[in-house]
Order: sequence, then structure tokens, then C-alpha cells
Amino acid sequence: MFRTSIIALTLGMMLISACATTHAKRKGAFYPARIPASSETQRLANVRVALFQSIPRLRVASKEPVKIYDMNTRSMMADSVLKEESQLTPRNQHFMLNGQTLLAQKIRLVPAEKDFIKCNGQRFRGQIEVSCNARGGLLVVNFVPLEEYVKGVVPNEVQGNWPLEALKAQAVAARTFTLSRMGSSANAEFDVEANTNSQVYRGMDSEREATNQAVEGTAHLAATYQGRFISAFYHSNCGGHTADVRNVWGNDIVYLKGVACGFCDDSPHYNWSLTLSLKEITNLLSQRNIEFIRSIEVMGRLPDNRVLSLEIVHGGGKEIMKAPAFRMLLGPERLKSTNFEITPNAKSLVFKGKGWGHGVGLCQEGAYGMARAGYGFSEILEYYYPGIEIKFLE
Ligand SMILES: [Zn+2]
Repeated sequence: MFRTSIIALTLGMMLISACATTHAKRKGAFYPARIPASSETQRLANVRVALFQSIPRLRVASKEPVKIYDMNTRSMMADSVLKEESQLTPRNQHFMLNGQTLLAQKIRLVPAEKDFIKCNGQRFRGQIEVSCNARGGLLVVNFVPLEEYVKGVVPNEVQGNWPLEALKAQAVAARTFTLSRMGSSANAEFDVEANTNSQVYRGMDSEREATNQAVEGTAHLAATYQGRFISAFYHSNCGGHTADVRNVWGNDIVYLKGVACGFCDDSPHYNWSLTLSLKEITNLLSQRNIEFIRSIEVMGRLPDNRVLSLEIVHGGGKEIMKAPAFRMLLGPERLKSTNFEITPNAKSLVFKGKGWGHGVGLCQEGAYGMARAGYGFSEILEYYYPGIEIKFLE
């Protein structure tokens, strides 16, 4: 039963691929090259998305009967409708579902065709796998076809009222980012997280017509470099120049060296300012044993104007800290980028900066600006990831 549905899914993906190819050729605007078919790409039909990690209970609901499988024996344990109040809880390496014991360490909930499973109030396409972690909490993983997953990501990463070509660029970036993560570790329980550690994914309730149109319009297209999926990082606003990944995370990647943008300076996140008291900063840096901060000064800048490092003078001496680490300690939602200047006041510091995010890869608000200026999604992607090729997955 289980194997049959996987084969059916694979066949379904192949049929979709065939339709999308015809569509792309008929439009005549864009002829992506192909990645040869392989068992690897077939295997990657489902993304494993960690919806919740280490939660004490999960509320599950369905309209139609849901089949519950023991994933060790692959045998079906139950086949019933999950009412709205159904509660799944861990107990001594097995589960309780509405007071009934499920003797398994890992279970898979498989919905009826065209039905979905609601998890903690959000509807998700695909299947749900639940296991207990070492601390007795629940790990909830959504097994969802790649294209359906991307539909649940794009509206949470950009606004649905953006120009279609910007939405398409985001769809290809999100799809490619996911493909670069899939199968990277055979032992991992999941490929991506449903939050900003990977990409924000909120399932089918978050889907919008325009963003679904962008996903369908670019179905099975991905960005590659020398035949491999690129690490398609993206961020809200680059502040005028995207970052060289080497200065952010230390690795040297040809297509992530940074480009001048010039398309995001009218956008809402281009300029920002933040005022923090020295006391607040001391609290935020306390995990590094930094106390009684006296001053913080910029020590050097990169050619793209981002701060390289800072000198922090405090009660116990002084410390040189790299700007990305400093940003993480202050909080990336507070200190929105590492492109800033510092003005000291009596008991506070004023940070005035540009851009929002790590700055690596696609500038989302720049993609918006490029689409408004008439560029197509492939031109946008090739601008922010120089040297890439957009290819069709088979
Ligand atoms: Zn930009």
C-alpha cells in the first residue's frame, strides 16, 4: 500500500514534468537546459520539513480517514477520521492518540487522496511523520512533494502582490535552496525546518493565487552551477550591494561573491536605525562574559561597506568581534544588517544602517525592483547568482 502510493506519486511527478516542458516551449520565452533523469532526482520527490521539534503534544485533525503506519514494520495500525480535538502525545517511546496506545516509535499519518492533515491548527499537504526525541518531545515532519512545499513557502517569504516575475524568481530560489538541502545527510530526520533557519513554511492556508501561479509557472526549474544545485541563499534587502558569502559564513562560493544591486534603494527595508542603551547591549552580550561596556567602535569595513569587525571596550578589557557574530548576539531582527555606522550618546548607541538580512545571494526587494523595471525571473536570478544556469528537473 505504502509502496504503491510512492510509485503513484513518482508517476504523477513525471506526468507533471512532461506538461511543464510543453508549456515552457509553447511560451517560447525561455528554454532551460535539462538535468539528466536519475534515481537521485526521483528520490527527491518529497521534501522532509520539520514542522515542530520537541513539542509535548500535537493536535491533529482530518476530514477523511487517515491511515496510521508503524514506520519500523511498515504495517498499518489505524485507519480513522481524526476529529478536531485529537491529541497525540509521547509516552515511554510510544504514543497516545486520544487515550489509545499506539505501540510504535515512529508513525506516519497518510491522508486520503486530496485530503490534508491539520497539525496544531494549520493544514498541510502530504504526509505527517511523528517520532519521539531523546528528551521525550515530539518531532513532527511533513513529507510533502517539492512543488507543494514551495507553494507553502513563497507567500511567507515575499508579498503576494509583488510583480509575477519577482515571485517566480523567489519560487526558483526557494525550490533550489530546498534541493541543495535534500539528501545532504542520509541520517538526518529532515531536510529543512519550517522557520527562518531554512525557509518559512506555513502549509496550504498561507498559499495565495499569485504565488501559486509563480510556482506553477516555474515548475521544476532550478538554478545550478557546474551541474549542481546552488546554495540559493536570499535575504530581504542588501542595502546597495549583496555580500560575499566568505565574509558572512567563511566559505568561498563563486556565484555568491556579491554584486552591486541598485534595485532596492526605494524599498522599505533599505534604511533603518536602532538605538540601544549600553545597559541593554551589555545584557545582550552577557553570554560572552562582556560586562560594563564603555564603548563600541567599528574597526574596519569591507569593500561593500559592511562592517568587518568591532572593538568592544568593557570592564574586563577589550574584545574584537566579527560583525556577523555581533549581529547575532544583538539579535538579527534588531540589528538588521552589518552595514551600519555607530553614533555614541551619553548612555546609548545609535546604529544607522542599510539593508535587512545576511546580504548573501538574491536581494528580494531588489528582485521586486528588477521585475518592476521589466526584467524576467531568469534575468533576476542570473544577476544575483552570477554564472548559474537554470535547468529543468526530470
Ligand atoms: Zn538590493
